[in-house]
Amino acid sequence: MIHMEHLYKSFGDLEVLKDISLDVQKGEVLVIIGPSGSGKSTMLRCMNLLETPTSGSITVCGTEITAKGAPIREVRQKVGMVFQHFNLFEHMTIMKNMIYAPMKTKKIPKADAIARAHELLNRVGLDDKADVYPITLSGGQKQRVAIARALAMDPEVILFDEPTSALDPEMVSEVLDVIKELAKTGITMILVTHEMGFAKEVADRIIFMDESVIVEDAPPEEFFNHPKSDRAKKFLSKML
Ligand code: ADP
Ligand code: MG
Repeated sequence: MIHMEHLYKSFGDLEVLKDISLDVQKGEVLVIIGPSGSGKSTMLRCMNLLETPTSGSITVCGTEITAKGAPIREVRQKVGMVFQHFNLFEHMTIMKNMIYAPMKTKKIPKADAIARAHELLNRVGLDDKADVYPITLSGGQKQRVAIARALAMDPEVILFDEPTSALDPEMVSEVLDVIKELAKTGITMILVTHEMGFAKEVADRIIFMDESVIVEDAPPEEFFNHPKSDRAKKFLSKML
């Protein structure tokens, strides 16, 4: 589903990704963990070209998005993204948030987009909020809408960048529960999170990043029970 080869990214003199190579299989749930500033968000953002890599290549669903003249807009439609700060359109109702991109970029007829939106809002337990504005929702509810909205584009892969970091503690579990349900559907997911219990439960594979490189790449049992590097051991001892 995603293939990265020798990816580098710098911001000026700061090298943020160093020689990252990674394959993510269809249906896989990959969790990325690591200290703040290690390059996790930048790597995720490279996957749908919100950041342009300095060098190296990325292939998404068989299309090399880093190639000149790549059909970037088409590929982006296949890669959903959920951010820490929800990024809902504040001046649109929840329903409008849900149908805007499918109608505009996928040319889905309005009636179909609305029907699908109700289905997805139901799935995250928020169909009764279709006609309200985001400001009336709690953080947890906003994030559940953001997840439903990403799904409305029928993505092949969905990227989550610390989806619960901005939430009050009592709202974390309602969002994690939605993500866990989603993981069971077999959609390919890549998640950055600091929720270690959740990572252990939901991940097929863990990637640990530190200082711009992938330090470990292992199944969750192995990573959490027998981390190989001192850096991972140190990180885990602080988190658990
Ligand atoms: P993480 O998500 O692991 O916390 P990031 O990928 O956000 O790490 O950031 C990695 C490093 O790159 C940090 O030092 C951060 O300050 C820097 N960085 C991220 N985005 C930019 C940017 N747009 N311009 C300059 N520096 C950036
Ligand atoms: Mg980040």
